[in-house]
Amino acid sequence: MKVILFGAPGSGKGTQAVMIGEFFGLKRISLGDIFREEVKKSTDLGKQVKNFMDRGELVPDDLVQRVIDAYLNDERFILDGYPRNLNQAKALEETLKKKGKDLDVFIYLEIDSQTIIERLSKRRVCKGCGANYHLENMPPKKDNVCDLCGKELFQRDDDKIEVIKKRWEVFIDRSQQLLDFYEKKGKLLKVDGSGDKDKVFQRIKEKLPCQKL
Ligand code: AMP
Repeated sequence: MKVILFGAPGSGKGTQAVMIGEFFGLKRISLGDIFREEVKKSTDLGKQVKNFMDRGELVPDDLVQRVIDAYLNDERFILDGYPRNLNQAKALEETLKKKGKDLDVFIYLEIDSQTIIERLSKRRVCKGCGANYHLENMPPKKDNVCDLCGKELFQRDDDKIEVIKKRWEVFIDRSQQLLDFYEKKGKLLKVDGSGDKDKVFQRIKEKLPCQKL
């Protein structure tokens, strides 16, 4: 089973990708996480992608492609945050074809821009273990300290309001072509991304073509 999970930054796709991955036994591949790890380790790749990430822009396709190919060898995976534009979708199709594989479903988590701004601008992330919090909906027990590992929380550079707005524009600009591409292939599955994570996951489970899992 090969699944793509697509949605605006803040649509909850990271959370849902973990839940889907665990429930259906799919390996989760998040390009955002891979890039953040490279930035943290200050590798050559990390240095190249940091500026794009901080500005809320997409990393250029050639860099993306160089990284992602190595992760596509599994039979069962869920892609979180890739592909994000038509070029990447076509490149993915080619790569999978060469490996004798094909995609099963492209899930689109639908959500409006106000909800996204509210969710992301109040998100805080642990510097140690990467756990996510929300200042109002899921605050840590002690201000600015992770409940799980005791390390300090921080706001991602790309969760600042101006950058969120930029990421939303980038998202709207690229997404329609991508949705059309997968709709024509009969692989598009739209899911309402509003409400809490369990409600959204329930909707996904009800709609997923489970016979293929
Ligand atoms: P995410 O955690 O998925 O929101 O990704 C964080 C940042 O990583 C994005 O704002 C981009 O700068 C970069 N990134 C992640 N996935 C991609 C992708 N498929 N193509 C280009 N850039 C990406």
